[in-house]
Parts: sequence; structure tokens; C-alpha cells
Amino acid sequence: MTTATRPAEAPLVHAVNVMKSFHGNEVLKGIDLDVRRGEVVVLLGPSGSGKTTFLRCINQLETIDGGRIWVDGDLMGYADKGGQLYRLTDKQIAAQRRDIGMCFQRFNLFPHKTALENVMEAPVQVKGVKKKDARKRGIELLERVGLGDKPAAYPAQLSGGQQQRVAIARALAMDPKLMLFDEPTSALDPELVGEVLAVMRELAASGMTMIVVTHEMGFARDVADEVVFMDGGVVVEQGPPSEVIGNPRHPRTKDFLRRMR
Ligand code: ADP
Repeated sequence: MTTATRPAEAPLVHAVNVMKSFHGNEVLKGIDLDVRRGEVVVLLGPSGSGKTTFLRCINQLETIDGGRIWVDGDLMGYADKGGQLYRLTDKQIAAQRRDIGMCFQRFNLFPHKTALENVMEAPVQVKGVKKKDARKRGIELLERVGLGDKPAAYPAQLSGGQQQRVAIARALAMDPKLMLFDEPTSALDPELVGEVLAVMRELAASGMTMIVVTHEMGFARDVADEVVFMDGGVVVEQGPPSEVIGNPRHPRTKDFLRRMR
């Protein structure tokens, strides 16, 4: 599908019946999810319910066994020729992934590069952006995440919260159309969680489309347009936070939320 023919209201992410197994263990048993442009979706669910796997399937870090995922009209990982699916090459998949930013629980910054060099790396290496331009943009992005005074700091000199903010700036440097967050605050000391959530709130307010796996219920309640509760590889319940968190219907959702308190 080209941009010209795609209806304006088409979801940015359109996942249909996504299935994934590891060695016979069915981890995703047919996940459907639509994410509209500018929307924030929070994935909730107990450990092992398949949230991380689903995020990794969206950007093709995992190859799905069944179903289909489109991001901005692109069928992820495959070419569809008359209904027959052909796996794309690694290079083609890498090109698809370029437009999707991902932040992990562990920030995975390059330890021997400064904050600014970490942010500049992908635009220069992958997109061929001139160093001068990447540096200017990198400084702007570090300012955006509240680290305008830390361009020369190495990861080891930064707190966990600061490192995660560098990781967010690094993802934004590639101008992603979608940001995936996998428990971005879970590895942080409690006093550092707020500064990372504040950056994510600002990002959401700026109109970024985001899928966020988190246990931060305040963030989910305030920022999510849609909350998706997963358990055992299926979507159990889905809706606005006022419903799924405020007034859950399914016993499994109720049980999970009770444990979260
Ligand atoms: P969640 O993010 O909800 O905690 P995960 O997606 O991380 O859940 O994991 C779901 C299940 O898939 C778990 O049982 C996990 O052990 C299994 N799993 C995830 N990745 C792999 C893998 N690479 N190989 C084998 N099993 C995996």
C-alpha cells in the first residue's frame, strides 16, 4: 500500500492474529491490535504473558509464526505476492526497523561513547547524516530529555535515569514513526523513575505513537489512550484506562490489578 492510497484513518500499527511459539511453547496465541497515529497504548499483564515478545514481533526482532503485522502500511518482515508471503531479506527488515524506535529495560548504550556520540551514532552510521548536522540535532535531543548539560558524559558517569533518557534521545534521533518501550523504568531506583516517565509524557503529548509495556499504573492511567491487558498470550481485556484499570470486567484483570496495589 502506498501513502497515497492509504486512508488517513488507517491505524499506524495493525496486528492481526499474531502467533509466536518458542520450542513448542505457544507464547502469543493470536494477538490483534490496532494503534492509531498519535495514540499511546499501554500493555499490561503478568510476567510471562507475552508482552515483550509481542513488542519484539512488531519490529521483527522475532519472526512471527502466524498472523500479520503492518506498520504504516508496510507488512513487517514479509512481501505479499498474491496472498503468498515471502520473507524479506535481513537488509530489507533492517530498513523497516529503522523507523521504529525501541527502548529497553536495560539501556544498552555504547559504554565507550559519550551521551552525544551515542545519540549521533545511528543517524551518521545508518542514515549517512553529516556529523555536523547529527551533532546539532543530538544536542537538541539531549536538551529535550533534560540532559543539555551532559553531552560529554560517558554512560558510567550518568545515573540509570539519565542513561535511559539518553537511550530515548538516541531512539528519537532516527525520527521514528513509532516508539516501543519495554519496561523502561523497571531497572531504575524508585527515585529515578519519575524523570524518565516525565520524558515519556512529553513525548506522548508531542503526538508520538507509542506502545509501552510498563507496570507504572499512574502513567497508564494518565497517558494511555488504550490499555491492553494480556495474560497467557492472549488479549484478555482492552479499552480506555478508565475502563480497564478503573472498572475492569474480567476476573484475570481484576486479580492482576489487585496484586499491583
Ligand atoms: P512478558 O514480557 O509478558 O513478561 P515475555 O514475552 O518476556 O513475557 O515471555 C513470554 C514467554 O515466552 C515466557 O515464558 C518466556 O520464557 C518465553 N520466551 C520469551 N523469549 C523466549 C526465547 N527467546 N526463547 C524461549 N522462550 C522465550
